[in-house]
Amino acid sequence: MTPLQIAIVGYGTAGQAAAVLLARDGHRVDVFERAPEPGPVGAGFLLQPTGLQVLWRMSLLDPALAHGARIDRLYGDTPCGRAVMDMRYAGLDARLCGVGMQRGALFSILDDARCDGVRLQAGITIAGPDIDNDRWLRDADGRRHGPFDLVLAADGAASRLRGQLGAVRRDAVYPWGALWCLLDAHDWPHLHELRQRYVAARRMIGLLPVGTRPGDATPRLSFFWSLPVAAFDGWQSAALDDWRQAVTAIWPEASRLLSSTTTHAQLARASYRDVTLTRWHRGRWVLLGDAAHAMSPQLGQGVNMALLDAEALRDALRAKSLPDALTTYARVRRRHVAMYQFWSRWLTPVFQSDRDLVAKARDVAFQPVGRLPGGRGHMLRVLSGTQHGLFGALPLAPAFVETLDRFGRTAGAPASAVAS
Ligand SMILES: Cc1cc2nc3c(=O)[nH]c(=O)nc-3n(C[C@H](O)[C@H](O)[C@H](O)COP(=O)(O)OP(=O)(O)OC[C@H]3O[C@@H](n4cnc5c(N)ncnc54)[C@H](O)[C@@H]3O)c2cc1C
Repeated sequence: MTPLQIAIVGYGTAGQAAAVLLARDGHRVDVFERAPEPGPVGAGFLLQPTGLQVLWRMSLLDPALAHGARIDRLYGDTPCGRAVMDMRYAGLDARLCGVGMQRGALFSILDDARCDGVRLQAGITIAGPDIDNDRWLRDADGRRHGPFDLVLAADGAASRLRGQLGAVRRDAVYPWGALWCLLDAHDWPHLHELRQRYVAARRMIGLLPVGTRPGDATPRLSFFWSLPVAAFDGWQSAALDDWRQAVTAIWPEASRLLSSTTTHAQLARASYRDVTLTRWHRGRWVLLGDAAHAMSPQLGQGVNMALLDAEALRDALRAKSLPDALTTYARVRRRHVAMYQFWSRWLTPVFQSDRDLVAKARDVAFQPVGRLPGGRGHMLRVLSGTQHGLFGALPLAPAFVETLDRFGRTAGAPASAVAS
């Protein structure tokens, strides 16, 4: 392989993972990140077996498991205790689990893995390719950077570069978003479960154990409060106590955890987009992560997809020369991503909208549909990130599954013990 001079725009999960993987293959990598002090944005996330397997292949699974929280079950109910969703990884394989992580933990793990072949340039916003020569990047101050053999646009869901590179079929902001923050786990009893509570689709609270992060041994939960994007400002100007009372009315146990949340600024706003492209690359530029396929977080897949994208691009560059490698990368990843985009598009209004009838149907039908022959397996494969196309499955290596199983046995009850 001829070493390439590669630029990466964006130092989120996709950019970080790509930087590590490509530098390890001997490429010279320059990362441009607009934040003056690069760091994690948001609270926590659920990593699925597919994303964990990428970390395993990068030899980064051990630090991830040292900080993350083992998640066996996804459970959602209504305030009167009616179960709406109850899925366990053990239904797919008793050795599998998800891992809840703080964004800061994954950021540090990937940042620590960055080697000398990567030069991180912070505080630079890339505006696009140079008009005359796409080997060069233009920044927002009009400076040129380059030349590069390959440019990875990993600038996130609100990508400015996507419109200049891919052919955008859909780029829509969801009308509903969320407020989220990290909370001290205190004596929260559900340390191996993502718990959600719903009032129709108008209210949704989520609590996900996300473990610790380097330099902070306090176990935490990622808290999620759903609301329309148009209501963000109204929430900000209303008294925090009124909002806390609304949380208490729906979920008193969750509300107790908010005792240290005393200002609006402690909760970050999140909005999400639904993005599909007809083309993922142009010339020497290629899109990765949310920039290529942003979706709502309903299925908890975005970080996994970012890791898988980075690995697929590295593999394509090992096997083929440019531009065939970019075509192969895009083909491989589109086949996997399409199913998740489909389901997140359909499921998001079922959990976040003002459609009361849809929510009623969800409360009645979600569990029975999950018990239909074929339905349960499909739901679990989508959850774990392993569904590939309509009928295929992404393989999980036996040695990786054994590692995950060992983690399960040391980090709480084995999945098989809680399997229904
Ligand atoms: C509320 C919420 C919950 C979520 N939960 C989960 C979950 O449970 N599991 C899961 O897998 N995923 C989850 N996700 C999705 C996940 O966060 C994203 O899919 C993932 O972070 C995307 O990574 P990325 O690297 O593509 O983009 P980002 O993390 O957004 O990184 C993009 C980077 O590019 C930089 N940048 C942007 N523009 C420029 C520019 N012009 N020049 C230079 N730098 C630039 C940004 O500053 C940023 O650092 C959730 C998302 C939200 C909002």
